[in-house]
Amino acid sequence: MEVDGDLMRAVVAEEDRQHSQIELLAPKNYASRATREAFASIVSFTTIEGYPGRRFHAGMVNLDAIERLAIDRAKQLFGCSYANVQPHSGTQANQAVFYALLESGDNVLSMSLRDGGHLSHGLRSNFSGKWFNVANYGVDKNSGLIDYDAVREIARKHRPKLMVVGGSSYPRRIDFERFKQIADECGSYLLADISHFSGLVAGGVHESPFPHAHVVTSTTNKNLRGPRGGIILCDDEGLGKKLDSALFPGIQGGPLPEYISAKAVAFKEALSVEFKEYAQAVLRNARTFCSVLSSAGYDIVTGGTDTPLVMVDLRSVGLTGDVAAESLEAAGIPCNKNLVPGDPEGPRTTSGLRFGLSAVTTRGFRDEATRDIAEIVVDVLDGVRKAGAGDAQVEKSAKDRVELLARRYPIYLRA
Ligand SMILES: *Cc1c(COP(=O)(O)O)cnc(C)c1O
Repeated sequence: MEVDGDLMRAVVAEEDRQHSQIELLAPKNYASRATREAFASIVSFTTIEGYPGRRFHAGMVNLDAIERLAIDRAKQLFGCSYANVQPHSGTQANQAVFYALLESGDNVLSMSLRDGGHLSHGLRSNFSGKWFNVANYGVDKNSGLIDYDAVREIARKHRPKLMVVGGSSYPRRIDFERFKQIADECGSYLLADISHFSGLVAGGVHESPFPHAHVVTSTTNKNLRGPRGGIILCDDEGLGKKLDSALFPGIQGGPLPEYISAKAVAFKEALSVEFKEYAQAVLRNARTFCSVLSSAGYDIVTGGTDTPLVMVDLRSVGLTGDVAAESLEAAGIPCNKNLVPGDPEGPRTTSGLRFGLSAVTTRGFRDEATRDIAEIVVDVLDGVRKAGAGDAQVEKSAKDRVELLARRYPIYLRA
């Protein structure tokens, strides 16, 4: 870093920010030191193309071994017979699935972005929404839950070749079996994108999408606590072959070997007993956070959570998401504004907040610390309600409490 002072200043400032804040952003997590070492290693300088045993370059012996480790551990972790560990991101993983299973113009059914879906599931301005004929299902405006009868009705009309479940702000368990019944009725494939709760699935505190989903995708850097990237899983060899060639050479060139190594390390960690405890703690923390906010008079979308996500509906307290999120950030608690079911506001304003508890759980937060941070969030939000905007004094005292808590729970426990 000595060669580039400008960059170093920005990186150090970012380190300070991360260490002094308590981030409650839903996708946020911290990979272990071992995982970070793996993605900083010299394997980064090896160009690979193709799959283990079927490469296009020489000198692949070690890289084959590394990728096989990652694949075998991913299969063991999710109890399936096929894994592809090469996707550069969750979006690439989904794109490969679309490319493997569909022809351009085919029908797709996915959850609308407004109700919690993801842009790679068919947003109009995304490749998935431009090249395919996408219909959306949503959630019930009052309960916030997926209305399976409504899904079935839309599916029977739209006749999708692919149905997508899973999203970015749906906090409840998804009935994979019910979705599979609907998919079977329509002769469609079922893709489960478990990005936001794949760690809970791996840790055994959320039901697995297998054997119901034909294909499962996930990011590796969110709840799964690995390096940035994606994975594709399935339990069918023929389908696996299609997925392999859809990813490479279909939509990607050479994968990132250092990230494949880091995925191998993260999957090994996720197979451990400690990770099961982590997954249980994430869920308990998310539920504790819900109950503190709810007791303070804030509406929790769906009344609770089965995932690391907590969605708060601010309409009943007369706030919008943008003002609330801004004040929380000033207090050192980044989270995001988010649309809630039936939201009258647009995506820039919103009536809600989305929180995720994966990252603080990695920092070591358990019941008491989670209660503390939830109470600070309540104080900041109460301050916004009273002042009609962020209250500088409330934000300042919250920020001091956040910094104390951040120091007590450093990002890395072991040096
Ligand atoms: C985050 C996310 C993705 C993909 O994210 P990338 O930023 O492309 O890694 C895909 N699906 C869901 C449901 C997500 O939450």
